[in-house]
Amino acid sequence: MRKRIAITHVGCAGHYIGAKHCRWHRHTQVGDLYRVSTIGNYLQPGNSSRDTLGGGETDFFETMVFHTGPAQDAESEGCGCHEVLDWCERYGRRYATAQEAQAGHDATVETYAELAQEQITEKGKKRSWKTKK
Ligand SMILES: [Zn+2]
Repeated sequence: MRKRIAITHVGCAGHYIGAKHCRWHRHTQVGDLYRVSTIGNYLQPGNSSRDTLGGGETDFFETMVFHTGPAQDAESEGCGCHEVLDWCERYGRRYATAQEAQAGHDATVETYAELAQEQITEKGKKRSWKTKK
């Protein structure tokens, strides 16, 4: 039977140095391979209105994807997120609204789940090809 990619929704914010001041975040671990993280509504202490995350006037939310390894994130207290192997994002997208961020996060998880599924299926094929030889 084909192994299914595990999709784990975790509670911690998945990226961004100012994440603790982001009032909105979603974080999904896709198999062992990808961290899909969306954050937004960045309200710094002392500010009365939210700040943008990017250069655009309405960049209030962003999704980023990072490559992860099989080990749990050492600082996670076992919440289910994995260690990031490379903090250079594989994908990034910004949005103006929480609605767009919500949809964008879901679409990104779907895309990377398919990609991860293809990768483990390919790995399985190579493995069985090697054992036959
Ligand atoms: Zn975590």
